[in-house]
Order: sequence, then structure tokens, then C-alpha cells
Amino acid sequence: MKKEIREQFRSRTFERDKYRCRMCGFTPTAEAWKCEKPPLDAHHITDRNLMPYGGYVHQNGISLCPQCHEFAELYHMTGVPHPGYSPADLYAKVSSSYDWAVQMSFGLAPDPEEGLEVYKRLVTLQTGERKLLYYLDPTLRTKPTVDSWLLACEEAGETDPNILLYGKGRY
Ligand SMILES: [Zn+2]
Repeated sequence: MKKEIREQFRSRTFERDKYRCRMCGFTPTAEAWKCEKPPLDAHHITDRNLMPYGGYVHQNGISLCPQCHEFAELYHMTGVPHPGYSPADLYAKVSSSYDWAVQMSFGLAPDPEEGLEVYKRLVTLQTGERKLLYYLDPTLRTKPTVDSWLLACEEAGETDPNILLYGKGRY
């Protein structure tokens, strides 16, 4: 993952959130931003390993203070959210959604032609919830749904929607 993409993710997330923690409202001073360690984190609402191209888009990000970041990370570590800090809660705070974040992440494809074969994956999370993580044709920019995944499987000759298919350019 390129450094510029990571930096852009952080700066766009912080800008949108007006440099404050979106959960508790903590607003670091300008001085604090000059420290080596930034006073807020740009948290990936859905883990970067579960998103197309790492999900480095502000639609998948939220600015959090260290304490709120710990609460949010609990879900990634255990599959059980801290009350009020589930991915759905965080997406709601920033007026985004999992689907929207996935869709926007396809815009990170370094080579759209290469992306065509890549995104075909449906997984069952620890919570038992099934999520479409990869979509068949990123150039379509349409909203991925379980139905569109099943259709994509059918077109690709796959019958098991849980099968993991990795193509070129997997991150
Ligand atoms: Zn906070």
C-alpha cells in the first residue's frame, strides 16, 4: 500500500471530522498536532484486510481519540463490539456505511483492468454475519449486495457463494 494513499486517508478523515474525536468530541489543541504522535487516530471502521485495496477511503474512516480507538478496536480483536462502538455505530456517526465504503474502495484500484478479476469473496464474520467483501466488476461502481454477488457467482460458474476466489492484485 502506497504511503500517499495512507496519508490521504488520514488527512481526509481528519478534515471531514474537523480534527475532533467523532465519538466523544475530544478536540486536540493545535500544539498537540505538532507532536510526533498524532493526538487522534484515523480508525478503519472495517478492518483493512477485509476491504478492497485496504479500504483506505474516508468513507471507511473515523477520527478517534486514543480511548475511543481502544473501544472501536475491541470489535476487530474479539468480534464483540464495545457498546455503542460497533462498525454500524461508527459508520452512522460519519454518515457512511459498509456498502458505501466498499464501493468507494474500488476507486483505489491501481489498474482498473487488473481489478476486474480480483474481487470475489463472501465471508462469515465471527458474529455470524455474512458480508460481501469482494465484488466482481469494480468498473461498474454499482452498490454490491448479496444478490449481486450470487449473480456474479452464477455468471462465473461458481455455485458455492462462500468459496474464496483470489485473482490478480489481491491485497
Ligand atoms: Zn473519543
